[in-house]
Amino acid sequence: MSIRLRFAPSPTGFLHVGGLRTALFNYLYAKKTNGKLILRIEDTDQNRKIKNAVNHLIKTFEKLNIKFDEGPIQSGNYGPYFQSQRLHIYNKYIAKLIDSGNAYYCFCSTERLNELRKNLSQKKQIIKYDRKCLNLNNKEILKKKKSESFVIRMKVSNEPEITFYDGIRGKLSVKCEEIEDQILIKGDGFPTYHFANIIDDHHMKITHVMRGEEWLPSTPKHIILFNFFGWNPPKYYHLPLLLNPDKTKLSKRQGDVAVENYLQKGFISEAILNYVALLGWHPSSNNEMFSLKKLEKEFSLKRIQKSGAVFDIEKFIWINSQYIKNIDVNTIADLSR
Ligand code: GLU
Repeated sequence: MSIRLRFAPSPTGFLHVGGLRTALFNYLYAKKTNGKLILRIEDTDQNRKIKNAVNHLIKTFEKLNIKFDEGPIQSGNYGPYFQSQRLHIYNKYIAKLIDSGNAYYCFCSTERLNELRKNLSQKKQIIKYDRKCLNLNNKEILKKKKSESFVIRMKVSNEPEITFYDGIRGKLSVKCEEIEDQILIKGDGFPTYHFANIIDDHHMKITHVMRGEEWLPSTPKHIILFNFFGWNPPKYYHLPLLLNPDKTKLSKRQGDVAVENYLQKGFISEAILNYVALLGWHPSSNNEMFSLKKLEKEFSLKRIQKSGAVFDIEKFIWINSQYIKNIDVNTIADLSR
């Protein structure tokens, strides 16, 4: 079986160091296994569209020397790697889920849903949709569709729990009663992250999903969706959170999080990759200096840690200084200019 991985950012206009860490780990594992790395643009949130964000992202990866085997190329060749170009595929599969009774139309207004959430939270109950629209009949649905806006939700299975295996955390289980009937298709007709993500992981034959820990709570929903279609889910690896030195989640407030800012400040590309590789992964020896080529050989999934990784700017600067010391004087002059 050939290994296929993907980096699947939503184009936000800049590359977060956490995003680079995800992309880099996927890249290294693809290199190590002779697999393929795919760049997939998850741009289904129409409210957050940013002009030129993808070209900018591709340029940043070029500066870092991270190459994708498949993905959109610059100057407008979007190919099949933009989710916004794949609505026909999502529409086909949502129709299947509605037919099989695993998804349903929901016409509830935002006001009603807000009220519901408020009540549940006051009663300290699990906040989730109450399935008011689950049993509408076809006639009612057709009538409502003419005049009301709607979303499509998944009907979470009746099984007691969903169990899945995470390559870093081991076996995990979540009770189905704690999982909300997730919206799969939004009011504007675009799929949500969850739906587009699993349809694409299946169609792009992704074998391993390596992504940030913040996506761990979404994974049971993804497993349920894979089960609905009778597809095998990929292997999951949720990478540890990146933390500020005070152990809070890494945020802009405590320093730069955009890779572009470090490049602009004159950090050497390879030093950036070297430092970012150490965020949640550790080498087999005490040596922490790794060129990209060396990382490609040394990287191993087994040495990814569970606990959060502190982004330590002092250490980053120190690693960068080691690279600067080893660059010949002409290159330093060029870079300085
Ligand atoms: N689009 C998600 C993101 O912005 C991708 C998460 C995933 O890899 O499943 O990070």
